[in-house]
Amino acid sequence: MARFEAPLQPSHPRHRPPSPSPPASRAELACLEGEIVACGKCPRLVEWRERVATTPKALSTGEPYWARPVPGFGDPDATLVVIGLAPAAHGGNRTGRVFTGDRSGDWLFAALWRAGYASQAQSLARNDGMVLTGAWISTAVRCAPPANRPSPEERDRCLPYLQRELELLTAARVVVGLGGFACDAVARAAGIRPRPRFAHLAEYRFDAKTLLCSYHPSQQNTFTGKLSQAMFDAVFARARALGA
Ligand code: SF4
Repeated sequence: MARFEAPLQPSHPRHRPPSPSPPASRAELACLEGEIVACGKCPRLVEWRERVATTPKALSTGEPYWARPVPGFGDPDATLVVIGLAPAAHGGNRTGRVFTGDRSGDWLFAALWRAGYASQAQSLARNDGMVLTGAWISTAVRCAPPANRPSPEERDRCLPYLQRELELLTAARVVVGLGGFACDAVARAAGIRPRPRFAHLAEYRFDAKTLLCSYHPSQQNTFTGKLSQAMFDAVFARARALGA
């Protein structure tokens, strides 16, 4: 027998427009972005982000590398916040936009597009016209680290930026942490106790929000099938169901 789903009620979260963030929060987000981009507190990461820019990958368009900290990107009224580990050396560190210009970004933006948060499936460059509606993307650490491994000291030095960003995204209902490092960083920034144990689709409530954990869409996970497209889509379907 065919099954029909009842239409969503007007009170369902998907029908509720997010409350717009106060102008002060938007101004502070812009201010935070300026602070992040100018930051040079981690000598090892400053050296690395600039060094990789001198050995561009073949896929580079010939444009100069950004080679600075990469701020968050998206809709200040986001109900969904996605947090990754750090910019990729030849991705965000090249293009200047988080998850832009690398394979992980291809996976993430395609999933956000399928879920209705992104205006296009491909994220190629800062000027590619991408618009996020109801979503914000950022990272736990804002500078590309060698071997994708920031030290605990570098993480802690960068954490206040994430903390402020989460506070300023006042409409946020769900924070998706991509991988154990990002989930742990969100938990530290938000003061979640006891510290969450990472598992795909694990959920932790904090304030009026949910931390939703997901495997990171790294090539290591997507090539091996540890994270499939269906599994990744299920994360954003769950985020919608939780009010994002
Ligand atoms: S990782 Fe964060 S704290 Fe360290 S230099 Fe980059 S932006 Fe600054």
